[in-house]
Amino acid sequence: MISVQPKAHAARTEALSHLIRDADGTCLMYIDGQWCTASDGGTRAMIDPSTGLEIARVAEGTVQDTERAIAGARRAFDEGPWPQTPALERAKLLGKLADLIDANAVELSRLETLSCGKPLRETEYDMADAANCFRYYAGLATKPHGETFEVPAPSQTFVVREPIGVCGQIIPWNYPLLMAAWKLAPALAAGNVCVLKPSELTPLTALWLARLFEEAGFAPGVVSIVTGGGPTVGATLAESPLVDKIAFTGSVPTGQSVMRAAASNIKKISLELGGKSPNIVFADADFETAVDYALYGIYANAGQVCSAGARLVLDRGIYEKFLDRLVERTKKIVVGDGFDPETEMGPLVAERQRDRVESYIRAGVEEGATIATGGARPAGPLGERGFFIEPTIFTNTNPSMRIVREEIFGPVLVVQPFSDEAEALKIANDSPYGLAGAVFTSDAARAHRVIRKLRAGITWINTYHPTYNEAPWGGYKQSGIGRELGTHGFDEYTEVKQINVNLAVEPVGWFKE
Ligand code: NAD
Repeated sequence: MISVQPKAHAARTEALSHLIRDADGTCLMYIDGQWCTASDGGTRAMIDPSTGLEIARVAEGTVQDTERAIAGARRAFDEGPWPQTPALERAKLLGKLADLIDANAVELSRLETLSCGKPLRETEYDMADAANCFRYYAGLATKPHGETFEVPAPSQTFVVREPIGVCGQIIPWNYPLLMAAWKLAPALAAGNVCVLKPSELTPLTALWLARLFEEAGFAPGVVSIVTGGGPTVGATLAESPLVDKIAFTGSVPTGQSVMRAAASNIKKISLELGGKSPNIVFADADFETAVDYALYGIYANAGQVCSAGARLVLDRGIYEKFLDRLVERTKKIVVGDGFDPETEMGPLVAERQRDRVESYIRAGVEEGATIATGGARPAGPLGERGFFIEPTIFTNTNPSMRIVREEIFGPVLVVQPFSDEAEALKIANDSPYGLAGAVFTSDAARAHRVIRKLRAGITWINTYHPTYNEAPWGGYKQSGIGRELGTHGFDEYTEVKQINVNLAVEPVGWFKE
């Protein structure tokens, strides 16, 4: 691992100037068209994960603030005009928003890098992806969504899709703006109104997004952004009887709690949860491609990716050679400040996440696995002040180890050897999760055989990680319920209404006169 120390360049925090603040400098949240402090004046410190320094304070929303946002959304939905706005008009506004994201992308990506630490080359990509997500759903808003059915005469039956209503949306910190786009774009395109709760660790770009919504001309109440904690803002959204749908992305335990709360009024629910995804490499794979993607699969965004290739399921036929090359490449990864163009991997998002990853590394060692490389904080200020962990590889694992079974959500790869295809699949599917997975092989028939037997919602052949706004995203098993993105993601924000028309208007004659 090669390290790059953070530089104290002033440009680091310049992008904060785009946020709306009060006289004390607190970043305000956006509720029902108003910029506001928390009802009790509470704030939360934002920490730069590369330096451990405070960069801003953000209003810490309360239950009361959340209820106000929900009431505003309720009014915006029930009294309109958003749900009745013609699809073409909704599309135009969403397209305008996409253009505004593009116009501010450079500064937005700097703000994202400041708040979550990931290198600029990643956040620049995320900003473009977020804009394109709004653009994709702007296009989809005006496309046909209904169906007609051939039923016995004299009826004609058809189906229309209608918005669900007020959507509570709760997102994590690993792709702050992109996760907001994945939630807001399909919901708004379908005519819903939204109250979005960003992660309490990374709300800054969502607050800027609220400004862009305002600038694009979205009416008050159509989108509110309430910043604050999960047990307050998040739980209020999940519990409120005035919320019709809850869409959650985060960990399994929080997802379970959201699901329980949503039962109160039988909310529509979609959950995008964790993963422990297998990346299966057969001996006949293109060697350098497979090594390269194994690195990309686990170390992109410092492993803080729900679909990360966290388990390398490796053919014994190439085990030593592959591992040697993987370790050699891992040691060359440049870890450091996301603002430095040299940096390839940034810090973990927060101290608590660094502590969590370190506790897994200790557990792996205690359970008898071997650290092939990494396993510690980098030396110097990077490790002392920032929340960095070296890219790490564990070998000599067994399937019962916590590092193999549980989601670590950090730059930690576990290697699991196999002898034949059947064993590779058994290892790959031996997980309570089923989010993603990949296979690397030059045998096309085997690639398809293996992928079809993988119990996962997002899969790749001879690649890892590509994600498209056009294609559905979501997991099997405990990785979630429902799908985001693509037409499936749009459908999750609609109610289906069956309409039956009698084409021969005359009495049915079921009862005698
Ligand atoms: P988390 O579950 O701790 O928090 C997610 C969100 O839920 C945050 O906004 C948090 O404030 C909120 N929250 C916390 N307690 C709550 C409660 N009681 N009620 C309502 N909301 C509550 O997850 P995290 O640490 O922010 O994110 C990491 C997790 O997210 C990982 O498990 C990762 O796999 C998952 N994730 C999944 C996907 C996917 O598409 N499947 C994408 C990104 C992240």
